[in-house]
Parts: sequence; structure tokens; C-alpha cells
Amino acid sequence: PAMPGSKAPEHPAPRRGRVKKTVAILSRKRSLYSTRRLVAAIRERGHRPLVLDTLRCCLLLAQGTPRMTYRGVEMRGVDVVVPRIGASITAYGLAVVNHFEMMGVPVLNPQISIARSRDKLRALQFLSRSGLDIPRTVMAHDRSNVKKLVEEVGGLPVIIKLIKGTQGVGVMIAHTLPEVQTILDTFWDLGQEIVLQEFVAESEGRDVRALVVGQRVVGAMRRRAKKGEFRSNIHRGGEGQAIELPAAYTEAAVRAAGIIGLEVAGVDMLEGHAGPRLMEINSSPGFEGLEKATGRDIAGEIVEHALAYAVAKSGG
Ligand code: ADP
Ligand code: GLU
Repeated sequence: PAMPGSKAPEHPAPRRGRVKKTVAILSRKRSLYSTRRLVAAIRERGHRPLVLDTLRCCLLLAQGTPRMTYRGVEMRGVDVVVPRIGASITAYGLAVVNHFEMMGVPVLNPQISIARSRDKLRALQFLSRSGLDIPRTVMAHDRSNVKKLVEEVGGLPVIIKLIKGTQGVGVMIAHTLPEVQTILDTFWDLGQEIVLQEFVAESEGRDVRALVVGQRVVGAMRRRAKKGEFRSNIHRGGEGQAIELPAAYTEAAVRAAGIIGLEVAGVDMLEGHAGPRLMEINSSPGFEGLEKATGRDIAGEIVEHALAYAVAKSGG
């Protein structure tokens, strides 16, 4: 693990609050809304934004200090990294994030936490063990026993999810056993792992997205699926509306982020009869929908936390 104060000599720690800091954003494209907003927030605070295309970071290893080059130039002087790793480049992205950590550069979020959140089952394993309420979920690979698996999650209809899906892609609902069997067989034949999950009917196509930064919820919205759709993702045509989060939801979101080890986390919860049911946790949450719904400066919150985190990690 990266240790505080283990910065390479070419990264002298700037004095707290005085020196311009370089905040690197790992992002495939600088034109993406969240990337643009982060760049603006860094500039507004008098610091230096550096947008790095994750796939152009070249990782160099030999005995001793790890190095990195970017378009042929030695990477140095980065004070803190804000990774925004898309699902399609998870493996490379995790390697880049880990490399920064090995170089002693603080990264928000750390590699291990991004990895935990990327796999829906893995994230739920951590959350459920900590006593947070999650929809009943099973992972299996047993074709002969589908009826039993469906019973385990409370019967039909059931939700079926690809464990590495995102933005609602790979999330399905099945209303009959033959339908469940067909979907499972198809994914298993394609070599994809899936989970079966209890359908939380009372959520009625809505969910709550809370954005946790540090130990605080900096904004929350309720997303409502468009007509005829049970998935409330903005990318699936869902609409977001700002809400004041009840305390139970705020606590659950902050705890969930802490358990996974994320400094910045989009926590998605279903509204169950008895309160929040944790559904998933996103380590590179887009915040266009949330800024528009709440009118809050989410980018500013993230940047300020990144700067404070850099100071804390460099022992300054
Ligand atoms: P993704 O990571 O692709 O967004 P999610 O697991 O968040 O996948 O599911 C997408 C959407 O589907 C959720 O936002 C929610 O509206 C709906 N959904 C997911 N799981 C359930 C469930 N167990 N019960 C009811 N609705 C669900
Ligand atoms: N990616 C999330 C969604 O599809 C959040 C989008 C956003 O906040 O802009 O719902």
C-alpha cells in the first residue's frame, strides 16, 4: 500500500495552502461533462489541472522506484490524482491508479476500492457482511437448480444482473421460470457471470443516488424510470429530482462508501418498506444529473476534498 510521506524525491510536498497544486484527472476525454467541471473547479481555486488520458499513461517498472511517462514525457510533480475510470478500461485503469499509488502520489479513489466496487457481487459481499440492508442476491452457476435459486431471492419476478454491467446495461427482469432459465443459460454459455436478485417491487422504478465525498453526502437525488422501464438510470431515460435525504439514507450511504474504502462514491439505494436497501456503489460517478438536479457545485466539493486529502497524505 502507498504510505503517507513515501513520495519520490521529484515530488516535493508543497506547503499547505500556499503553493499551486497540480491535480491530475484520469479521464479518456477532456470534453466529458464531469471532467470539464473538475478542470474548472481546480482553476477556480487557483490550482493547476492536468487531464491525463488513462490509456496514454505508460507504466515503467524495474528494480526500485516505479516511473510513468505520458506521451514520452516523464510524469512528475503531480500532487493528487482524481481517477475517472470508465468500465470499458477497468483493467488498464486499475494498473495506472495503482502505479500512481506505488509512486507515492495520493489517489482518490484508491485502486483496491475501485476494484471492489466494479464487481457488483464483490461490493455486495462487503456491504452485507457489515450489516447493511441489501436486496437478497445469489450468485450461482448451477443450471439444474434454477427454481431453487429463484426461491432464495423471494420468488418471481426476479432481477438478473451481469456483475460487471453499468448504466443499467445488463440489468434484466424475468417474470417466469423458463424466462429465467433462458437468460441464465445464455449468459453462462457466453462465459458471463450473473447474479439473481430479489425484485424490490415497492421501489416502483425509483432509486436514490447519494454522492458521498469524504464522510459527507454532498448531494442526493431520486431517479425515476421512464414509463415502461424499471431501471431508473439517467442513461436509460430516467429523471433526477433533488431530495433531502432522510438520516437513515445518509448514514447508509456514508457507511457503504467507508466499507468499500471510497473517498468519492455514488451510492445507489432502493427505497424499501423498512428503509434503504443498498444496490450498488460507483467509484467514478458522473455528476451531471446531480449538479443539474441540485444546483450544487459537486465538482468543487470533490476538488476541495482532493486537495485536503493530498495535504493529509503528504503529512503536510
Ligand atoms: P447499473 O450499475 O447498471 O446502474 P443497477 O444495479 O444500479 O445497475 O441497476 C439499474 C437500475 O435497475 C437501478 O437504478 C434500479 O432502478 C433498477 N434495479 C436494480 N436492481 C433492482 C432490484 N433488485 N429491484 C428493483 N429495481 C432494481
Ligand atoms: N451514471 C448515472 C446514471 O446513469 C448518473 C448520471 C449522472 O449523474 O449524470 O444514472
